[in-house]
Amino acid sequence: MRAILVAPPAKGARLGDAPTPTLGPGQVRVRTLECGICGTDRDIASGLYGQTPPGRADLVLGHENLGRVLETGSGVVDFAAGDLVVATVRRGCGRCRFCRANRSDFCETGEFTERGIRGRDGYLADEYVEEPEYLVRVPKRLRSVAVLLEPLSVVEKAVEQGQALLARLKAPAGPAPPPPAALIAGTGAIGILAAFRLRLAGFEVTAIDRHGDDTPAGRLLATIGAHHVNAASGLDALGPAKFELIVEASGSASLDFDLLQRLGPNGALVLTGIPSADRPPFLVAGGGLLRDVVLENQALVGSVNANRTYFALGLRHLAQFRRRWGEAVGGVVTERRPLEEFAAVLTAPTTGAMKSVLVVHPE
Ligand SMILES: [Zn+2]
Ligand SMILES: [Zn+2]
Repeated sequence: MRAILVAPPAKGARLGDAPTPTLGPGQVRVRTLECGICGTDRDIASGLYGQTPPGRADLVLGHENLGRVLETGSGVVDFAAGDLVVATVRRGCGRCRFCRANRSDFCETGEFTERGIRGRDGYLADEYVEEPEYLVRVPKRLRSVAVLLEPLSVVEKAVEQGQALLARLKAPAGPAPPPPAALIAGTGAIGILAAFRLRLAGFEVTAIDRHGDDTPAGRLLATIGAHHVNAASGLDALGPAKFELIVEASGSASLDFDLLQRLGPNGALVLTGIPSADRPPFLVAGGGLLRDVVLENQALVGSVNANRTYFALGLRHLAQFRRRWGEAVGGVVTERRPLEEFAAVLTAPTTGAMKSVLVVHPE
């Protein structure tokens, strides 16, 4: 079968031939329809990240997926041929208490694998085989946006972490307060999906990036009633504003420290971007920053990956985005290209682009 193959730490990706996986009892065979491409895929194709399966020279790339069930093995009752499905990404270590409880996103040993990323083939291939416990069935009406479910699951977890930190305040009863203010740093797919999610949750949302308003992301923010600020020359562009919740989705370590200064009293900063560890060190006014964290009860938390629960939550919210804003969420997919054009999609994204999707089987 066709597959996009990588061999990290070697640079590059190629469209090659991979053995078609065989269906075992209790398994599901799925034809891949679409795969979204993100920074992780680009890092793997650049040789910066990723790991081939044991004993193998290459890895099938791709983790943001949508497929259709072709066939089920004996004993499978929850899925049938024709079902639309999205598969989760991480497979637990099988040893720690979180992995054993189907919460491998909180794995303690670090010995997990991830499809298309770390030690296990991904979904950028004609088909794949999977256990039912890692598949989520998608209703037909969400077909056009379901490829966003994997990145949305990451957002669901991050927002839940932030909301849990705000909930620790147990705000006293009284007249309804004004809507809480959230800041989102970065307007790629994760940032924009976080804007949808937080608007749905009743937040006043401001999103920053390094572009003007006239980009696909800027226009989408306006559609959902979120503010957009061009912070190309720094966070001063925000004026004096402070925020109860900040969701970071840019992966810039120096910005992370700047964002800390934008937290209001009792606020929470959730980091989802992954800064590169090999950049030169830089100076921060650590004393002042941590002093404010203490004096203002602030919280800083990292959030990575998502277990199946967050995929289910994401499906519910995708349907709600549709009800509230019509087809707007579909605009997060800024381009769809045939599988053969993988090389162009794996190079740097164009300005204001949110999500590029490779179409494996057009149907
Ligand atoms: Zn991704
Ligand atoms: Zn584990």
